[in-house]
Amino acid sequence: MAALPATDHLRERARAALARCGVEHLDEAAGGGHDARTPITGGTLFQLAPSSAADVDSAVSTARSAFSDVWRDTPAPERGRLVRRLGELLREHKSDLADLVSIEAGKIGSEAAGEVQEMIDICDFAVGLSRQLYGRTMASERPGHRLMETWHPLGVVGVVTAFNFPVAVWSWNTAVALVCGDTVVWKPSELAPLTALACHGLLMRAAADVGAPQEVHRVVLGGREAGERLVDDERVALLSATGSVRMGREVGPRVAARLGRCLLELGGNNAAIVAPSADMDLALQGVAFGAAGTAGQRCTTQRRLIVHEDVADEFTERVVEAYGKLGERIGDPFAEETLVGPLIGEKAHRSMDEALRTAADSGGRLLTGGTRRLASEAPDAYYVDPAVVRMPRQEDVVRRETFAPILYVLTYRTFEEALELHNGVPQGLSGSVFTRDQREAERFLSSAGCDCGIANVNIGTSGAEIGGAFGGEKATGGGRESGSDSWRAYMRRATNTVNYSAELPLAQGVSFL
Ligand code: NAD
Repeated sequence: MAALPATDHLRERARAALARCGVEHLDEAAGGGHDARTPITGGTLFQLAPSSAADVDSAVSTARSAFSDVWRDTPAPERGRLVRRLGELLREHKSDLADLVSIEAGKIGSEAAGEVQEMIDICDFAVGLSRQLYGRTMASERPGHRLMETWHPLGVVGVVTAFNFPVAVWSWNTAVALVCGDTVVWKPSELAPLTALACHGLLMRAAADVGAPQEVHRVVLGGREAGERLVDDERVALLSATGSVRMGREVGPRVAARLGRCLLELGGNNAAIVAPSADMDLALQGVAFGAAGTAGQRCTTQRRLIVHEDVADEFTERVVEAYGKLGERIGDPFAEETLVGPLIGEKAHRSMDEALRTAADSGGRLLTGGTRRLASEAPDAYYVDPAVVRMPRQEDVVRRETFAPILYVLTYRTFEEALELHNGVPQGLSGSVFTRDQREAERFLSSAGCDCGIANVNIGTSGAEIGGAFGGEKATGGGRESGSDSWRAYMRRATNTVNYSAELPLAQGVSFL
């Protein structure tokens, strides 16, 4: 593998990409408390100033005024023009944004480009949606009456995002919120401020190009304190927060206490069942990408393999063999041959180490991986061999999400047992079954099957398309974003009754006066 790039080189690459996205000037402040870092070397790129309490307050005020003064009354197809222009600019700057995603999140080139493609796709979707925010007309029980529903913009949407999808999750929220007539205040992950500034730069250019108010979008930088300000601000009509279950447990009750609306997209603990009838080559590809892709740092990463005992040894051996090949392709995400980039940082590496130790103490057998790589070349970066651990039971450590590439292998005898293991974790984001048995496939998708928001057959747990609603059940938070009818979360529904008769009959036959 080629040597890792130097931090200075990455800094200049980031600076050039930012400039092309319209961010000529960075609000740098030595010792400012908000370092933009790269997991590729672990080095600091820029020292940024975090947003103050007053900055967050002013961002919300500005977005609120833009909402009530202009945006909510702008016709939805007109709002769609802004998102269409944003989509065009994203196409133009796909490689700039992908560079920034690799630099800040450590994603390999094709995954970083894929993330930007997802942004382009959701813009296309949202533009179409801008002419399809349909309400229903219902049959009224009263003569001379019309009953219908209309959908109205909500207000300011606060968007809090995680480091691992630093731009796609913002676009799922923002493209849809903007066509719905909402304005947005974005608090990106403290680990990915540069991608956020670049997206904001492109959106501002799009607004200038189509004559939309720039105040429809604001970015505030910082960690959890900045997020908490949005959480507690009554002017934020919807708080859409993506991150760990821990974060959701803090945010959910605080928004509920002010009777605000919350959309939570939290951690997963996703499993694939491999049945004896499965196409094993297909299953192997699905498992390898699902478990080791993005260095195990997707919310939909496959963390558990539930394999039938008749095929468990052979299939697991093949997984271990595939991981052996991955071992030769760990390193610089910009190098074409790389398949596994770095972990986001030291904390992630520590939690991987701890989980592997706990798994061993609970009877787990490490089959491959877990060792740190490239430490002498880049002591502040954390590259690891993805790990596979065979577990005797679904112990507590398996039931937790460790945000690193560890695949736990469990075996089953009956399909019922497989489903029980599959659903026997607190989280409910994504699940899949590899089988050629139609009964098993249908059972998995049925109401008594997989209990996740995303349930797949003969395809892995990760890599969703934007056309469907994305999100999960149980501790994953219950939110849905992106495609299908997820837009409804960004609008308020009004039920309207119009009386066009000369009588005033009361519903349910009630008489009065
Ligand atoms: P994290 O929970 O540490 O942080 C996520 C965001 O929340 C950051 O912007 C952070 O500053 C903010 N935050 C943290 N505590 C907060 C609080 N009390 N109030 C307000 N804001 C707060 O998560 P992370 O390490 O950045 O990302 C990884 C996690 O995100 C994993 O658990 C992963 O599964 C999850 N994730 C879920 C989805 C999904 O769609 N379900 C998508 C991506 C990531």
